Amino acid sequence: KDPVPADIDIAQSIKPKHISQIAEVGLGLLPDEYELYGPTKAKVKLSVKDRLKDAPNGKYVVVGGISPTPLGEGKSTTTVGLCQALGAYLNKKVLTCIRQPSQGPTFGIKGGAAGGGYSQVIPMEELNLHLTGDIHAISAANNLLAAAIDARMFHEAAQKDDALFRRLCPADKSGKRRFAAVMLGRLQRLGIDKTDPDELTPEEVSRFVRLDIDPDAVMWRRVVDINDRFLRGISVGQGPEERGMERKTGFDISVASEIMAVLALASDLSDMRQRLGRMVVAADRQGRPVTADDLGVGGALTVMLKDAIEPTIMQTLEATPVLVHAGPFANIAHGNSSVIADQIGLKLVGPDGYVVTEAGFGADIGLEKFMNIKCRASGLAPDAAVIVATVRALKMHGGGPPVVAGTPLPHAYLSPDVDLVTAGCANLARHIENTRKYEVPVVVAINAFASDSKEELEAVRSAALAAGASAAVVTRHHALGGAGAVDLAQAVVAACSGGGGFKYLYDAELPIKDKIEAIACGTYGASGVSYSPEAEAAIAKFSAMGFDKLPICMAKTQYSFSHDATLKGAPSGYVLPIRDVRASVGAGFLYPLVGNMMTMPGLPTRPCFYDIDIDPETGRILGLS
Ligand code: ADP
Repeated sequence: KDPVPADIDIAQSIKPKHISQIAEVGLGLLPDEYELYGPTKAKVKLSVKDRLKDAPNGKYVVVGGISPTPLGEGKSTTTVGLCQALGAYLNKKVLTCIRQPSQGPTFGIKGGAAGGGYSQVIPMEELNLHLTGDIHAISAANNLLAAAIDARMFHEAAQKDDALFRRLCPADKSGKRRFAAVMLGRLQRLGIDKTDPDELTPEEVSRFVRLDIDPDAVMWRRVVDINDRFLRGISVGQGPEERGMERKTGFDISVASEIMAVLALASDLSDMRQRLGRMVVAADRQGRPVTADDLGVGGALTVMLKDAIEPTIMQTLEATPVLVHAGPFANIAHGNSSVIADQIGLKLVGPDGYVVTEAGFGADIGLEKFMNIKCRASGLAPDAAVIVATVRALKMHGGGPPVVAGTPLPHAYLSPDVDLVTAGCANLARHIENTRKYEVPVVVAINAFASDSKEELEAVRSAALAAGASAAVVTRHHALGGAGAVDLAQAVVAACSGGGGFKYLYDAELPIKDKIEAIACGTYGASGVSYSPEAEAAIAKFSAMGFDKLPICMAKTQYSFSHDATLKGAPSGYVLPIRDVRASVGAGFLYPLVGNMMTMPGLPTRPCFYDIDIDPETGRILGLS
């Protein structure tokens, strides 16, 4: 249809199949391997991992993109369209693995993340709103830990060592044993070679019970899944009962939290338990790390996430299966859906099937983190990478006027201009060259819009091939569904049959600065890196704590290869400023904050929520995009 109807109108026009059909026929799950959450959603039980542990893996495809406009260039749409083509037109077993959308963008600037046009995950209202509650569980777990930190500082300030010990360590035998087991890591770090709390000397009790958290060295922040800029900096402890224990802290968006990253990188329940327990939340007054397990809360956090660890089954408009799991942002977190969903999916589709997963924002961030963080955690390697490009974003990189969400696109984007597109192809070329460094074949998907001319699309295609893409294909899945992405699907199948290699960009054993520089110079095109005094101090601190062997998760703007969102195209010769470095020890990475990157987005003047409403007569949701 021309024009293509609104995403929500298309999504609501198709009746989804019952999800048990998708689970059993589409995915090959047994009836006791999934749990229904109503007729359109179900959760996969992790027992399926055991049943299939010796099954061969399918082909693994990652979808990244060029540096986007604020409107998005159709990575989710292409991920879904490609799968519809593979499943419904090439008759391959296929599974789409995507993240759960955050309510920040859904109600803020960009809208939801179900795909678009005739390539969507349905019901999109379910996907874009609360789904099965995983993000809420993550926020609750994160904030329980935040409460535990402040409460512990409060109680330690008020109590003597032996009283504190008596309260923390239950008197009965099994309570004592449990306490000692949870605290084993702390006992070992303190060099106390005992497991029975009764055997601790008074001196050991003092050292052991008093975490002695330095209020100025609390790294853990509270989270909420809303773009609430006024929570970026707050004071806590202002109530009269808190004995003046005020301190400055702040909120991040839930999808930037370490717990979200842990959920996405854990391989099973026991791995998640370990990771949650070893998250470093603060330092004590002597600069030693304090973990979630030191606070006794690692087990409770795992319990809060016991359902969230199971991926949610949904379907595309063409009834191919989807696993939705985890939702870390790509600019301020690692930007990829879960290891668990991909691992299960690769077994379920079998050796002739395909798992297609999406890495957020441009390939300089989501895909770089897919390769160097997610693949390192899972041990998996992709068979092919797809880079999504649009004429509109390339025109912006070629010098076109700014694209501002919520305002009409400037004329330059709606009328043909081959020169402008060609000038912008430097951005695409660098993403292709960067991705080839992993020794993975690159297929460029040129996501066609109704306003693109044939000559513009051809200019992008030839620039992509010249930059080393193994194929470059114009794709029309937004307007046509899977039928519009058959050429892309064939190119992906061909790329996956090559049996290529895989290598990381950097060795995780390198010193922290070497790893940061490998990404800055090897991916972003910077000529060097500068470090603020805070960043220098953090690097020294984390190296002293022994956390220097972790991979790097840069928090950087998605709008440019550089730290400066206005530098379009393929900037080079600049110095990348590192403002600070934080550690996500449980998730397993260090995250440098690049330039003025914020870990809590704000709302624009006219957020998406203006358009969203519900018809009280029918319960139909209106205006979600
Ligand atoms: P990304 O995943 O790259 O952020 P999305 O797939 O979410 O981008 O797409 C962003 C928006 O652009 C969606 O509303 C989608 O419907 C729209 N869109 C994507 N591809 C096209 C296209 N070819 N023509 C028109 N609109 C499109």
